Amino acid sequence: MNLALPEEYQLLRDSIRRFVDRELIPINAKVEETRTIPVAIIEQMKAMGLFGILTPQEYGGMGLNTVGSCVIQEELSRANLCYPLYLSGNIGIGTLGILHYGNEEQKQKFLPRMASGELMSCFALTEPNAGSDASAIEAKAEKRGNTYVINGMKHFITRGDISDVFTIIAVTDRSNRRKGMSAFIVEKGAPGFSIGKIQDSMGSDICRQCELICENCEVPSENVVGREGQGFEIAMRVLEEGRVSQGARSIGLARRLIELSREHAKIRVQFGQPIAEFQAIQWMLADMATELYAMRTMVYDTAWRLDQGDRNRARAGMVKLFCTEAVGRIADRAVQILGGMGYMREGPVEAIYREVRGMRIYEGTSEVQRLIIARDLLQNGLKAIDCD
Ligand SMILES: Cc1cc2nc3c(=O)[nH]c(=O)nc-3n(C[C@H](O)[C@H](O)[C@H](O)COP(=O)(O)OP(=O)(O)OC[C@H]3O[C@@H](n4cnc5c(N)ncnc54)[C@H](O)[C@@H]3O)c2cc1C
Repeated sequence: MNLALPEEYQLLRDSIRRFVDRELIPINAKVEETRTIPVAIIEQMKAMGLFGILTPQEYGGMGLNTVGSCVIQEELSRANLCYPLYLSGNIGIGTLGILHYGNEEQKQKFLPRMASGELMSCFALTEPNAGSDASAIEAKAEKRGNTYVINGMKHFITRGDISDVFTIIAVTDRSNRRKGMSAFIVEKGAPGFSIGKIQDSMGSDICRQCELICENCEVPSENVVGREGQGFEIAMRVLEEGRVSQGARSIGLARRLIELSREHAKIRVQFGQPIAEFQAIQWMLADMATELYAMRTMVYDTAWRLDQGDRNRARAGMVKLFCTEAVGRIADRAVQILGGMGYMREGPVEAIYREVRGMRIYEGTSEVQRLIIARDLLQNGLKAIDCD
């Protein structure tokens, strides 16, 4: 049994790592200060094909699998979480619905331009009265001839303000609860569709969140993704894959935090010796590295299983739960090791600390992951996750 990356992925990792070290890490302070990714970097990411990591080559993408996507997202996160978040709609939740459930016409129409980065996309499920309980959404879509008319409001939608294509989940049959929800492709400029307020946040504001408003928004019926009534299933599938990506991003962030802590501990002298000589600091570094190793093993095992067709919601939930909580602990220790410089905005750790806090909330909170895992354990025992 060998969990090392196959050679093709090592080459991919090395090329993205070079890009990160040469182009992204040196401009990090400027990106944090201006809260924007320079246009030249976005164009470079387009030229590298990074907007189409998972899109099959026949639709203009790189056609990588989940392991490949995790390798790229891990490396980019090491520079700054804003890069995978900026790509997230096109390589994840905003595209996976069309990729897995879309018909040929929808795929031909949208996927190539999403893969090139010409069209930006996002995914909209959450509403003011429906967060963890996604089945409580109130946005509704009514069929009138060949058109659906959507009314309702979404909020906290990442990159909604810069997207061209929106996958929006709305209720088509209130009596059928989860089986009465459908997924719609809404294009920017659709009649009755508008962007509401931008929602400033603690850390993820380089890729901002916003409200989406549908007021008698008209969508042609050919824009239903999958079947009418399949919206909840589509949302859960998209989120399940997104949770493995969150694990990969946590690894990249953890590596950067550990690198910064290690470097600082070796050069910062107090009481006549580098603080790395103190056992208290060593223990923190040891715990950080141990959690990183566990994260890596979980993420790549789960990604590899997904690529073999072995989908398991509980396992994806465990990856999200463990990795986002572990990177939170690692960020906390990094602040401690850097002392005042870990807390000040002039150092790089403070921004990462705020950034990782959101990861325990979006794409399903830690508590929701525990619910999913416990339900699966009680119903299926340890066998379902190969741990019996
Ligand atoms: C930065 C950011 C980006 C986001 N991007 C998107 C996006 O692109 N698209 C999108 O659709 N949504 C997005 N969201 C929304 C996100 O998925 C929700 O915030 C999340 O699902 C939690 O919902 P809520 O905020 O309404 O919290 P609530 O559901 O109100 O939860 C509040 C608290 O109660 C707990 N809780 C709720 N139910 C239970 C339960 N049954 N048992 C135990 N505890 C429970 C929660 O865990 C949490 O601690 C984003 C959110 C953030 C912060």
